[in-house]
Amino acid sequence: MIKLSQSEQRTPEYLSQGSLCRFNRCEANYALYAILGRKSKGIFSPLEYGKAIHCAMPFLQRRDPSGALKAFTDVWSKSGAPDDDKRSVNSAASMLAEWYSGRMVSGSTPPYTIIEPPQTAVAPTERRSEDEFSFLVDLGSELPFYGLLDGLGVKSESHWVIEYKTTSELATRFLNAFHLNVQIIGYVTAVSILMPQAKVVGTFVEALRVSKNPYSQCIPVFVEEHEINSFISHYNKTVKRILECLEKGEWEQNFCSCTTYNQYGQPGYTCPYLDLCKTADWRSMLDSYKVDTKTPFTELKSKETKG
Ligand code: SF4
Repeated sequence: MIKLSQSEQRTPEYLSQGSLCRFNRCEANYALYAILGRKSKGIFSPLEYGKAIHCAMPFLQRRDPSGALKAFTDVWSKSGAPDDDKRSVNSAASMLAEWYSGRMVSGSTPPYTIIEPPQTAVAPTERRSEDEFSFLVDLGSELPFYGLLDGLGVKSESHWVIEYKTTSELATRFLNAFHLNVQIIGYVTAVSILMPQAKVVGTFVEALRVSKNPYSQCIPVFVEEHEINSFISHYNKTVKRILECLEKGEWEQNFCSCTTYNQYGQPGYTCPYLDLCKTADWRSMLDSYKVDTKTPFTELKSKETKG
């Protein structure tokens, strides 16, 4: 168990879908990441590459492929991540061209039209595109739900959340991950609250394969009302459990969640705190992680806006 004194604990201001999963996977993992703000050092290339592709996609949506490649190149070159076999400006150019030719050039009808995001009370600290927006919504417990959406689209008067995903494995196993997924359900829930007049039916997952042989697929994931109700109930129960852990300063280690083997293949990565948890005096390992307690959003001055 990770035991923390009250003075070293930071009370969280919100819960994101990532933190919701993290806490339910392992209380100790959540405490190290969100309460102490200890993050892995170093650059994680797939994450930086994904961020750069996210910055490029809104340009493709506006039929500006050269703007897309420039946006990608600017972000990727500043990230400090090295080029490798799969990730470079050339491979991004192929990925973006493959998506663009399949959707915008060949005469096919795009499955949705991008629309302006709603006004919310928070803005992303690092804005990646004009389509994305962040939100804080009240789901009925002490911590509001925070999220950052890639965009919003409409199709036949229905509203859709748009999510870009980059992956090395664009196959059924990857696409199945978005059905009964807290990010998908949570973001549809949030947009339904932010835009009560809109009919928000689900999420278009725009999946792009990171490969020398690029391929992309857009799948609609519908979200039903019972999923939203279950999500809200689970969210609020999780907040209650987080507050109980905070009160006691006790965060249980869940050894079922450390590696892919005893999770029967899930998650795809070994927990970054494995070495820390293997050490009897876990505090002696804290300096192996950088401290990062920054909030991913900025509160806007106007309190008139919702969310
Ligand atoms: S290594 Fe295991 S017990 Fe430790 S934080 Fe990660 S998941 Fe939890």
